[in-house]
Amino acid sequence: MPSVTIAGGGLAGLATAAALGSAGFDVELYESRGFLGGRATSFPLAPSEEDSVVIDNCQHVLLKCCVNLLDFYNRLGVGDRVQFSREFNFIEPGGRVSVFRRGALPAPLHFTGAFLGLKFLGMADKLAIARGLMAIRSEHETRRDLDRISMLDWLREKRQTPVAIERFWRQILVSAINEELDRMAAAHGFQVFWQAFLANADSYEMGVPAVPLGELYDEHAWSRFERVAMHLRTPVESVDASGCVTLAGGVVRKSDFTVVCLAPERMGTVAPGLNVDTSWVEYSPITGIHLWFDRPVTELPHATLLDRTIQWMYNKGEGRYLQLVVSASRSLTDMPRADVIALAVRELAEFFPAVAQAKVERAHVIKELRATFSARPGIEELRPVTVTRAENVFLAGDWTRSGWPATMEGAVRSGYMAAEAVTRAAGRPQRFLL
Ligand SMILES: Cc1cc2nc3c(=O)[nH]c(=O)nc-3n(C[C@H](O)[C@H](O)[C@H](O)COP(=O)(O)OP(=O)(O)OC[C@H]3O[C@@H](n4cnc5c(N)ncnc54)[C@H](O)[C@@H]3O)c2cc1C
Repeated sequence: MPSVTIAGGGLAGLATAAALGSAGFDVELYESRGFLGGRATSFPLAPSEEDSVVIDNCQHVLLKCCVNLLDFYNRLGVGDRVQFSREFNFIEPGGRVSVFRRGALPAPLHFTGAFLGLKFLGMADKLAIARGLMAIRSEHETRRDLDRISMLDWLREKRQTPVAIERFWRQILVSAINEELDRMAAAHGFQVFWQAFLANADSYEMGVPAVPLGELYDEHAWSRFERVAMHLRTPVESVDASGCVTLAGGVVRKSDFTVVCLAPERMGTVAPGLNVDTSWVEYSPITGIHLWFDRPVTELPHATLLDRTIQWMYNKGEGRYLQLVVSASRSLTDMPRADVIALAVRELAEFFPAVAQAKVERAHVIKELRATFSARPGIEELRPVTVTRAENVFLAGDWTRSGWPATMEGAVRSGYMAAEAVTRAAGRPQRFLL
């Protein structure tokens, strides 16, 4: 079978490996770090301690509409380790909870009852949102300027109320796209609402891995792929324009095909000969805050917190270990970690009164400054496609033109697209993309 070298063991590289491995190709994947998963991974908090707690770099969630990511998990045999939830809890400062879940009506009316019951929106806000959702339904296939205007421009055009923008559209979209509404192309906002909330009744369900992310793609998962070999702590030093790969230490590897699955900032140093333009890439940060309390402070499995810096709370252990997420977290970038923790505890106490009596036993802040590229208007056509100037070299990664924003689903889609391109070039065409 044809041989394939993959540079990079993030989700794009892993999806390429799983697809080509399933098709019987000989795959060698090289990852510079000592673990797989790239930006969606986990690591021991105190590596020197034998029984150190393992944490995700940040809580990663998916929706049921992430069909390629779910297919990838199933190929690895770990699909059952993602727990889906039908309820979204919106909490206001003061602690009032509104539950958003689908009712008995068919899509797109399945949220009607839940929507009318949302306590944090007034009737004028709800009417505006209903108008906005209907406009998404009618415009998502017809309107041509959605890549060029911001989501905020579009919401203003549709006369959304300030409360609807802040507490509904912004609350959902900033976390989904990791960008502010005024910097986010309207096309991405449309995609989230169309695919997750309007097209099907269950596609909004939120999946949270029940194990640390790294366990989803550990060596047990890969043991089912006989012809796929993972090489950790083996950085690729260069990929030349003929697909020839040089590993750290000077070892040269020549295979039939090469798939480069590196983040954009690595392209210039590792693969300058491919001439891939990354000058359009700007980044948007995400901050994850891990807090361990001496007692339970909530029974909710997760909740989105309105009107404050902290956007999401995930209950990672009996209400005592909480993981908080702030997307597009530019306001926290320069803030000292101790101040970030103080802010998080202060805000949490407004939503969960038990926090005021609890003691923080441990806290950890992870600022991912290059979490994803900023999905701003005007860049979609600048995202590179799978094929490169070299006929045996292909490109994958959440920043390539996957049809999705920078997400796990986008990364897996790009990997499947690259795998399909390899099979076509090898004269054995296969479909992987769903
Ligand atoms: C904090 C945070 C929270 C997020 N939350 C979510 C979420 O809830 N839901 C969601 O869908 N998405 C989320 N994302 C986005 C998601 O993690 C990414 O879109 C996805 O993981 C990107 O995968 P990738 O393979 O394209 O890139 P990467 O994960 O960056 O993979 C690139 C890989 O290449 C390796 N590498 C680099 N240089 C070399 C070299 N020279 N040789 C060999 N290997 C090399 C890196 O170590 C890395 O493993 C989040 C991202 C972050 C950072």
